Amino acid sequence: MTTLKKVGFIGTGIMGAAMAGHLMDAGFDVSVYNRTKSKAQALIERGAKWCDTVGECAKGQDVVITIVGYPKDVEQVYLGAGGIIDSAKAGAYLVDMTTSSPILAEKIFASAQAKSLHAVDAPVTGGDVGARNATLTILVGGAEDDFNTLQPIFTAMGKNIVYEGSAGAGQKTKACNQIAIAGTLAGVCEAFAYAKASGLDVEKVYSAIATGAAGSFQMTNVARKGLDGNFNPGFMLKHFGKDLAIGTETATAYGASLPILAMVLHEIRKLEAAGNGDLGTQALLKYYGVK
Ligand code: NAP
Repeated sequence: MTTLKKVGFIGTGIMGAAMAGHLMDAGFDVSVYNRTKSKAQALIERGAKWCDTVGECAKGQDVVITIVGYPKDVEQVYLGAGGIIDSAKAGAYLVDMTTSSPILAEKIFASAQAKSLHAVDAPVTGGDVGARNATLTILVGGAEDDFNTLQPIFTAMGKNIVYEGSAGAGQKTKACNQIAIAGTLAGVCEAFAYAKASGLDVEKVYSAIATGAAGSFQMTNVARKGLDGNFNPGFMLKHFGKDLAIGTETATAYGASLPILAMVLHEIRKLEAAGNGDLGTQALLKYYGVK
C-alpha cells in the first residue's frame, strides 16, 4: 500500500488556505507556495514549510496539490520550465483542484504519465464555506487506482468524493455544475428584476418564493448576500467568467449548443469590464439593476 505523507500545496487563496489547513490537521507534512506569500502566512505560522518556487514545493513530495486561479496558471505551474512535471519525484501524485480546462487536464495527464507521475484532475464544488468546513464535493478524473490511493488526501478536505472517469472527466463534471449555476443564478436575478420593475417589495417576494419550488442555493445563499448589500466574494465573478468561458469553448468543441450559458457569460463580461470582477457572483444582481 502506498503511504502518502509529504504534501506540496500550491495556491493558498480563498480555497487553498483552508484546504491546506485541513491537510495539516490530518497529520500530513505540508509545504506551501503561493504567488503572494502573505496569503500563506497563517499556514506558515501553524508550521507549514514555505517554499520560494513552484519547483521547490513539488520536489521530493509524495503528493503535489494545486488550486490556483486560471487555466493559464495551471499550465504555468505544471508545464512551465522548472514547474511541477519537471520537479516532482517519479511516482508522485499530482492533484489539480483548480477549476480548469478538461483539455488541459488531458495534456497534463499525458505529460505526467511520460515521467512516471500520477496526475488527476480534481476540481471542487461547495464554495468557500465547503473549503472551511472540509465538506467539499471533489470531482475526480484520471486513473481509478490513483483515485483510490488519494482517498486519505480527499477525505481530509471533502465529503462527497466522486470518481468521474478518465483524465478530464472531473473538469467536465465541474463545467456541468457551473453551467447549471449560471442558468439558476440568472433566473433568480431576473425574478427580482421583475419584482422591482413591477412595483413589488423585493423582500416580500423573497420571503414568499425562496422556500418554495423556486428556492435554490443560488437564491438563499448567493442572491441573499447581494440583496443584503454584501458583495464580498465567496466566489469571485472573474473566476465565474473563467468557468463559463471554459464551458462555452469546450461545448463548441464537443458539439453542444448552450445558448443560456453564452448569454450569462456575456452579462458577466460586461460586469467585469465595469470593474466588478473581484466582487462575489451575487453581483449579477447589479447587471439587472436590482442593486
Ligand atoms: P484565489 O483566492 O484567487 O486563490 C488562488 C491563489 O492561487 C491566489 O492566492 C493566487 O496568488 C495563487 N496563484 C495563482 N496563480 C499562481 C501561480 N502561477 N503560482 C502560484 N500561485 C498562484 O481564488 P479561489 O477562490 O481560492 O479559487 C481558486 C480556484 O478554485 C479557482 O480556479 C476557482 O475557480 C476555484 N473554485 C473557487 C471556489 C470559491 O468558492 N472560491 C469554489 C470552487 C472552485 P495571488 O494571491 O498572488 O493572486
